[in-house]
Amino acid sequence: MESDLQRLLGEMRRRVLLTDRAGSGLPACCRESGRRSYADYLKANDAVDRPDLCGGIILGSVDRIAPILWRLFEHVELRVMSSRAFLSAWVGKVPCRCGQTVPLIAVNANLLLLVWRLMMVHITRIERWDSQPGRFRVNIRRPEQRDVDQSRLAIDMYLNGTGVSTAGLDSLLSDYREADRTAGHVLLTVTELAELWMVLHEFGHTLMELPGAAKLNELFGSIDQFARSCVRTLGRFPLVQEKWRLEHQADLCAAVTLTTSVAVGPLVEHDPEGDRLHNATWLSLGGISAAMETLNYVEAAYHERPGFSFRKHPPAYHRWDAVRQYAVGCMPPQHEESVQTLANLIAALSSEMMGAGFN
Ligand SMILES: [Zn+2]
Ligand SMILES: [Zn+2]
Repeated sequence: MESDLQRLLGEMRRRVLLTDRAGSGLPACCRESGRRSYADYLKANDAVDRPDLCGGIILGSVDRIAPILWRLFEHVELRVMSSRAFLSAWVGKVPCRCGQTVPLIAVNANLLLLVWRLMMVHITRIERWDSQPGRFRVNIRRPEQRDVDQSRLAIDMYLNGTGVSTAGLDSLLSDYREADRTAGHVLLTVTELAELWMVLHEFGHTLMELPGAAKLNELFGSIDQFARSCVRTLGRFPLVQEKWRLEHQADLCAAVTLTTSVAVGPLVEHDPEGDRLHNATWLSLGGISAAMETLNYVEAAYHERPGFSFRKHPPAYHRWDAVRQYAVGCMPPQHEESVQTLANLIAALSSEMMGAGFN
């Protein structure tokens, strides 16, 4: 228990660590071009640069779980901002006078904090966690008023209504002490994967267009075909269809990058060889489910506010369904059910909270 708490405190500390890594490998001219176009973007979107929020944890997660990203991109600027707009992130392709195009990815720390806070609330509701091979049983308590209050606070903070702060963290931590230890351990990992998947989604937009990624074309081809089939039946305007196809494409690309990175990385390294892919998919689907459930909250809580629309992204339930189908389709039939149990748990925790807090 103590080591879990230490990890949690370390995580909180890393969330407010300044990072000097952004753009460190870039020539000065490209750095300047990136800096200018990022500043324009921030101004246009009611956002501020906030490397102090989540910057440390995001870079740490990429380093630890998906270091392949640093090898795929020669140059990439990864920034953390804080925005009140309905933003998850931004991918810019900044042309520089030297002829290079600099991919610039900016993620919204407010959304990452929302994922983390909502997951913390979920963890505190788990009373018993019993996971053995072929068996996965969990007892969860019904949401109480304090859970609803914490979730509302988290969502308000997402849009900076109350300002991003440490409000409510003390009581979340003391509730965490009462929660099941294994559940806390697994779901904190899932939370990290949820945030990482959101970052990988943005990398996915860039990755699908990399000229040097020709070797991955076979995989990209199947992702693209699947993304097309996801939007075909929706009957929206062609422009929306094209945007949604690109979003599904980035979702699937991020899911594949995440799962394969987890399968060869430290999170499952002690698992028997044959189970690595299964366990990596189990954890990754849990993470993606946590990310999608967070977006579900946002859609449910704010769909009537000005500025909110589905024109750019398909609804979260649709995105989740596409990722789930794709990932489950990659598994041997005997694993199709077990690989979804963690994602199903998160969906259940989440829908109970939504039922308690947003009716
Ligand atoms: Zn340049
Ligand atoms: Zn996107």
